[in-house]
Amino acid sequence: MIRRDFLRAAAAGAVVSVLPACGRSDAVPQSPVDFVAGKPLPWINWSGNQSCTPALRLAPASEAELVDALKRASGVVRAVGASHSFSAVVPTDGTLIATDLLSGLVGHDAASLQAEIWAGTRMHALGPLLHGVGQALPNMPDMDYPAMGGAIVNSVHGTGQRYGSMSSYVTALTLATPSGELIDCSASKRSEIFHAARTSVGALGIVSRMTLQNDKPFRLVETTRIEKTEDVLAELAQRCAAHRNFEFLPLPHSTLAVTVASDLAGPNDAPSGEDDPEAVNSLRTLLQAVGWMPGIGEAAYDKLLTTFLAGGAAQVRVGHSFDVFPHVRVVRFREMEYTVPAESGPDCVREILRTIRERKLPIAFPLEYRYVKADEIWLSMFEGRDGCSISVHQYGDTDHRAYFAEIEPIFWKYQGRPHWGKLHTLDAARLAALYPRHWKDFHEVRRSLDPQGRMMNAHLKHIFGV
Ligand SMILES: Cc1cc2nc3c(=O)[nH]c(=O)nc-3n(C[C@H](O)[C@H](O)[C@H](O)COP(=O)(O)OP(=O)(O)OC[C@H]3O[C@@H](n4cnc5c(N)ncnc54)[C@H](O)[C@@H]3O)c2cc1C
Repeated sequence: MIRRDFLRAAAAGAVVSVLPACGRSDAVPQSPVDFVAGKPLPWINWSGNQSCTPALRLAPASEAELVDALKRASGVVRAVGASHSFSAVVPTDGTLIATDLLSGLVGHDAASLQAEIWAGTRMHALGPLLHGVGQALPNMPDMDYPAMGGAIVNSVHGTGQRYGSMSSYVTALTLATPSGELIDCSASKRSEIFHAARTSVGALGIVSRMTLQNDKPFRLVETTRIEKTEDVLAELAQRCAAHRNFEFLPLPHSTLAVTVASDLAGPNDAPSGEDDPEAVNSLRTLLQAVGWMPGIGEAAYDKLLTTFLAGGAAQVRVGHSFDVFPHVRVVRFREMEYTVPAESGPDCVREILRTIRERKLPIAFPLEYRYVKADEIWLSMFEGRDGCSISVHQYGDTDHRAYFAEIEPIFWKYQGRPHWGKLHTLDAARLAALYPRHWKDFHEVRRSLDPQGRMMNAHLKHIFGV
């Protein structure tokens, strides 16, 4: 088992803990604001790096109430799903509208495998709901906490060469505009709003419901292995083509990577599977135990990892797709992710690993590398090109800024587009250059639906140049 091996390795590392440990001098608090009895309730995101104190918080339970909430709202209006974005897309001191009560299945069509759902439905609730009507999401991200509305507006994705982002499964949606109009749109009805709203960073209003193009229910076998990073990179194209879903997580300062391949399960694949949400903490324990000593620490760390992990047994999980795609996330972290053109993915990830090594950055958290199919959605990170989404992470109690600042220019070099829900520093001018085909079209729609900029918080003004 991967976890057991990590823990054994960490214990072995303690033997050499006389070496200077990787300190916590840059530790930052997990929660940026305190709850004070009698004061307005602050909002804080999952990661603990964004917060605000809205003057008004509303949770409409119907479209009529949503329209009413938008009309009543004062100050900057923002929607919130599951608060799982790292970037400052949600904060407002004006009105925060939660979508939690707009949840569940509206209806479904067995022949077309389409289902209409409320936008506040969390992904973990959606899997069983769709299963009950003979449908399943074709693909999912690696966790199932987000609300579907929050997910599609940021083009949330999983991995798989033949599969697009969550937004690409939306065939129609209903949008409540800042002025309180309800607009139904699809590829054939008010199509300009549809192409803008499927990935809008929540700038056009609040999606109340959406229709999804699903598949029939399917089961997956997920196999997790420890392999040599260079071996994986050398045959990456074949691996991505061979498996239904393939991703890999290179371990910094080591020659190893975790690979995760998922394929359709056969009738004899029995349900099984132990997930290990703490494995990533064990890696940190190991790096700290080895001690960060430039030149010495890295060699010892790689040797320990190789000794204890390489050649170990594969970990296998089998089950319904909606049980196997997501993993439990108990370790808080901060994340930056860019999607680079698919053909640049291997070079980009090699350069990141080399930079971490050469600049002796004390990073234990694995990188993540996924493949997503192209789509035609105006502001999707996958618009017009297949993409490799590459992420860097830092633990939630450790300052991520110096690390991310070292890595971000590498993504720029490869024409990377940042994930709208994750950390990046790009402004409107630079983002516009990354979306040459439809940046202007999107903003025409945005201005027509929200001429007064009621949805524009400080972050959206920065990224959209308002
Ligand atoms: C542990 C963890 C794992 C993650 N894994 C992945 C992953 O595998 N793949 C990936 O792509 N991303 C991943 N992310 C990022 C995350 O999925 C996205 O940021 C996603 O958008 C969060 O959804 P949410 O419901 O929490 O939305 P929130 O963060 O609450 O809101 C996001 C945006 O959506 C807007 N919004 C919310 N609901 C609506 C609505 N109904 N209509 C219009 N706008 C709305 C908000 O105003 C905001 O702008 C991960 C994040 C975390 C914390």
